[in-house]
Amino acid sequence: MTTKPVFDVEAVRKDFPILNREVQGKPLVYLDNAATSQKPQSVIDKLVSYYSEINANVHRGVHTLSQEATDEYEGARSKVRKLINAKEEAEIIFTRGTTEGINLVAQTLGVQRVGEGDEVIISNMEHHSNVVPWQVLCDQIGAHLRVVPINDDGELLMDEYEKLLSPRTKLVSIVHLSNALGTINPVKDIVAIAHQHDVPVLLDGAQSAPHLPVDVQDLDCDFYAFSGHKLYGPTGIGILYGKRELLESMSVYQTGGEQIKSVTFEKTIYNDLPYKFEAGTPNIAGAIGLGAAVDYINTIGLDRAEAYESELLQYGTEQLQTIEGLKLIGTAQHKSGVLSFLLEGIHPHDIGTVLDTQGIAIRTGHHCTQPLMQRFQIPATARASLAFYNTKAEIDALVEGIHKTFEVFS
Ligand code: PLP
Repeated sequence: MTTKPVFDVEAVRKDFPILNREVQGKPLVYLDNAATSQKPQSVIDKLVSYYSEINANVHRGVHTLSQEATDEYEGARSKVRKLINAKEEAEIIFTRGTTEGINLVAQTLGVQRVGEGDEVIISNMEHHSNVVPWQVLCDQIGAHLRVVPINDDGELLMDEYEKLLSPRTKLVSIVHLSNALGTINPVKDIVAIAHQHDVPVLLDGAQSAPHLPVDVQDLDCDFYAFSGHKLYGPTGIGILYGKRELLESMSVYQTGGEQIKSVTFEKTIYNDLPYKFEAGTPNIAGAIGLGAAVDYINTIGLDRAEAYESELLQYGTEQLQTIEGLKLIGTAQHKSGVLSFLLEGIHPHDIGTVLDTQGIAIRTGHHCTQPLMQRFQIPATARASLAFYNTKAEIDALVEGIHKTFEVFS
């Protein structure tokens, strides 16, 4: 008697055409999902059908194509709202990605709330996208960046976080799931503690949205930013969720068509949410493709994907730990699909180059987290990052590739 597998990864892999290709004569082993994930056929088909059947500009047209494009575009917004359980579509703003979402908040709410001598709290494990916009804001205003330290496992020091909060704190912006370490931060606690001080919190969800079920109302975060391309959707599209009352209180970011109600040379009245923050013709195909990615994820079930990925992570961690001369960077108790490592005596770039000859795609470098690398006093790591279409056999291929790397450099 055969038992049905809980998560049928072989069936899932068939949905991703790129996984059939070869690299350097070997089957592709794609372990660079934290940089960008692969796209299922349904997302690719959606982009093709949008451009071949309904391409038109949204919101402005009375003709059929424009209405169909608008329905699809707004339908995608609605799918994203459900995915993260926001209260209403007005709280879902289409952006270019996580980076733009964070910049938007920094240059609107940030400029309004943060004054000279005030403080913005981030952490030592932030992506540059969640460092530089705040640094720029602080420089503009004469405010200061405060950084929550981490321990050697790559976990936030929550006591230190609490100590950093003061009447000078005006904003907190923290990553939910670290791209370089895989640490899942206790963001619900982080939000609750900040709210005791009346401080709003932005969560960088670039890595969590594709890997964890997210409920923004349960987290009670004020903002949540993520990118479509890491969520099995197209590049150039992302989401900024914000609570309505905050979004309404915020000044505009970019200005122009679509985000206005009326314009005279004397005065402009801005549009309602979410259009107030969507100036210009949006990335219509990207948004519709993101909607298709959300549909796809719903067929998989993020909770099932999370359980499978965490099994894979455990297997990968155990396998890598058996390799002499390999050191894992990022050993938090609460982790998701990232295996960052160093090999004794070999530069991470060389690891990546040898693995590529084996058809294995990993990322090497600082992963846009230079302050984190400084914390660990290393220039870079080699990072294998997982998705639900990866397999134990691919982890075995990685392990074999690492042994091969040692051989090449011995
Ligand atoms: N934040 C984190 C944690 C990330 O991993 C990334 C991308 O790798 C970003 C922000 C920036 O995302 P994007 O380049 O899609 O704007």
